[in-house]
Amino acid sequence: MNETDFSNERFDSIVAAGWIRDLESSDSRIHKEKTIEKALMAAKLGSADAQCFLFNCYQAYNPFYTFNIRQVPETEGLTSRPNPWTKFWGLLEALRTRSTTGNRAREAIEQMSQQFDSDEWNNLARRVMIKDLRCGISEKTLNKVLGKTEYKIPVFTCQLAQDSTDQPKKLRGIKRLEVKLDGVRVLAVVDGSNVSLFSRNGKEFANFPQIADAIEDARKHFQWGRGTGGRFVLDGEIVGESFQKLMKQAHRKSNAETSGMVYHIFDILPLESLQEGHCNIQQYKRIEWLESARDRLLETPCLRIMNGLDVDLDTAEGHDIMNRFAQDAVAEGFEGIMIKSLDAPYECKRSDFWMKWKPTISVDLTIVGFEQGTGRNENRLGAIICEGEDNDRRIHVNVGSGFSDTLRDEYWASRDQLLGHLVEVQADAVTQNQDGTYSLRFPRFLRFRDFDAGEKV
Ligand code: AMP
Repeated sequence: MNETDFSNERFDSIVAAGWIRDLESSDSRIHKEKTIEKALMAAKLGSADAQCFLFNCYQAYNPFYTFNIRQVPETEGLTSRPNPWTKFWGLLEALRTRSTTGNRAREAIEQMSQQFDSDEWNNLARRVMIKDLRCGISEKTLNKVLGKTEYKIPVFTCQLAQDSTDQPKKLRGIKRLEVKLDGVRVLAVVDGSNVSLFSRNGKEFANFPQIADAIEDARKHFQWGRGTGGRFVLDGEIVGESFQKLMKQAHRKSNAETSGMVYHIFDILPLESLQEGHCNIQQYKRIEWLESARDRLLETPCLRIMNGLDVDLDTAEGHDIMNRFAQDAVAEGFEGIMIKSLDAPYECKRSDFWMKWKPTISVDLTIVGFEQGTGRNENRLGAIICEGEDNDRRIHVNVGSGFSDTLRDEYWASRDQLLGHLVEVQADAVTQNQDGTYSLRFPRFLRFRDFDAGEKV
């Protein structure tokens, strides 16, 4: 964002909520893209309301801009107000940089709301503050049109892992082994004294306040000898007592109960690098950076630096160590292991810099029902409903993946014949539901057990 000057007073008194109404007027994706295209064209031709609207889109959908406010009041019946957009953006900046917080922030928002026509405030300004324009668009819709313009929305991405199972050739060289924790991936963006926690897709988590506060208190420990200007990102996994409880908290709007949760930090990089999508500091140097904070974090029980084990996979001994490490990890109840290249940079995409290994189980279950698909699988199979016993545990599970489109058509058409048949289902593990019954984690259909291979069902 640099070409248009948004501190310019010509944005005062502008009425721009019409763009939102236009977007709301149809659910069609094409209509939404066309509307954004129209706004872009108008903005290029100098239309202040289109520029104002697009800049507001940028503020609302830039994942790195968080305003740290829970509730923004609506107003009613206000008209002929000055609509001071420039001042509004100034307030957003003060909220974003946390120079205005708490009661002062609430008062400033209240005062600002009175300066706008209710129509502009409720339908645009307020929605920018809550970072949801509520007109069926997302950062993807916007970037499809605005991707090559000054209004391009930065995308939040992070490093992801590849499965090691089918790629034995890649298991070479010096690697770091870590256990694979079963929690929620959380990236903590530290920008001065401002700490925001994000999911791997850039959705802000407001529900781990203890962890955000602990990072704020401990932030200096991570800056020791590093020139990030206090702007860096921690990458890790928050683990709670149980995965289900954790997921409930992660997505709750209020009253989060997050005591007992621990943030296991496995990586660190400068904020600028995450925004650029890659960081050239090699994995082992990033680990050294993290390790420099380890001792100072001992008194913060909800923050922990992940342990790891370095192995040389060019030797048979290294492979033995890895196999033992993997078996021990599973025996201790971890999901699997992570295998990381020590000399690799941090790339915000799925790559073999990080590999994951998970054990798989397979169980034979009986089909007890069928579920019709939705969306692109409408009118064909969505999932098969299966039941069976595994080690005296009664499993009931819906299996919706592992089917090609052809199989979905075929099985849906012949479901009467398939009822009661035996299928082999692959999964990561048996899990216990809250009501004591059992299910499978990530179940996928493998094959029919009681039809011959290739036999048409
Ligand atoms: P997957 O979701 O199966 O692709 O596996 C990658 C995910 O494993 C990451 O996004 C993290 O949420 C999680 N994870 C658990 N432990 C680690 C670890 N030690 N290092 C990196 N990722 C981890």
